Amino acid sequence: MAKMTGVVLPGNSTVEFREFDIPEPGHGQVLLKIKASSICGSDIRAIYREHLGKGPEAYQGVICGHEPCGQVAKLGPGVKRFKEGDRVVVYHISGCGLCHDCRMGYQISCSSPHRAAYGWQRDGGNAEYMLTEEADLVLMPDSMTYADGALCACGFGTCYEAIERIQVSGKDRFLAVGLGPMGLAALMLAKGMGATKLIGVDVVDERIELAKKLGVADLVLKADDSTLAKIKDATDGLGCESVVDCSGAPAGRLLSIQATRQWGKVAFVGEGNTVEFEPSRDIIHNQITVYGSWVTSVPHLEELVEKIGRWDMHPDITVTHTFPLNKADEAYDLMDQGKCGKVVIAPDES
Ligand SMILES: [Zn+2]
Ligand SMILES: [Zn+2]
Repeated sequence: MAKMTGVVLPGNSTVEFREFDIPEPGHGQVLLKIKASSICGSDIRAIYREHLGKGPEAYQGVICGHEPCGQVAKLGPGVKRFKEGDRVVVYHISGCGLCHDCRMGYQISCSSPHRAAYGWQRDGGNAEYMLTEEADLVLMPDSMTYADGALCACGFGTCYEAIERIQVSGKDRFLAVGLGPMGLAALMLAKGMGATKLIGVDVVDERIELAKKLGVADLVLKADDSTLAKIKDATDGLGCESVVDCSGAPAGRLLSIQATRQWGKVAFVGEGNTVEFEPSRDIIHNQITVYGSWVTSVPHLEELVEKIGRWDMHPDITVTHTFPLNKADEAYDLMDQGKCGKVVIAPDES
């Protein structure tokens, strides 16, 4: 049987290369030739450093990589829509398909023991090939690169969901707190949805520089005691109509709430940590709505890639480093340091 290399993360900030059989697609399954697979903050937080998770974040020692994008290489029996050569993004969680959340397309929230996320509980994208369920695939428009697609599989998809949830439009001035890959994605997508003034905030100089260089915001601020006042100054003293927190930090979340205009909406997508605020002063008297938003749905991922094609938008401008598969160890080490944009592993590169 033909063999391939796959990457496994044993913990303790190490990377292991192992040999696997190239899988054979079963009924309703599709074998993908992986073209790009990007590294996510959650790979570092919950898998690379230590195996943190329980439930959906329980890593089972499988091939890692939950942001895969590739080309259909082989069809299993009973495949209905996709054909060899199709360029596809993988929605990164395979659900039971039958619970209420799955029926809505939110496989992320699938409550069945059959739920398995690629790169967490079943083999993911850091390999030459990956076995997928046809139902998890989304066809890409021709204008999108494979790296664009990988970035949509998780990060851009998650930001799109938050932006849809708070209905960002041309009526809004938009703030992203945290300028890692998620914050950059949120700003690009808010602009696509028509937001007229874009503001970004972070504490890390490298991230601030990258946001400025990419031109994704009208105003980029380094967070300090005057940040809230500066945001108010830039918005006629009112704050932003819509805000997304990608920082996951207590101070970032508080800023997100306090920089939201009266009657405005704020979505939390950054994970971990906690937040402390005064409900009367910060939310109730300002008539603010706070949303939690986790990943996205298959239909929204499909909508996202259609829009990205139509907007001729390229998520891959946020990629600062691309590594071949045999240098995945360097890729994870770089991402762990956090002083970079998005990092992509592309098996065909060498
Ligand atoms: Zn992710
Ligand atoms: Zn389900």
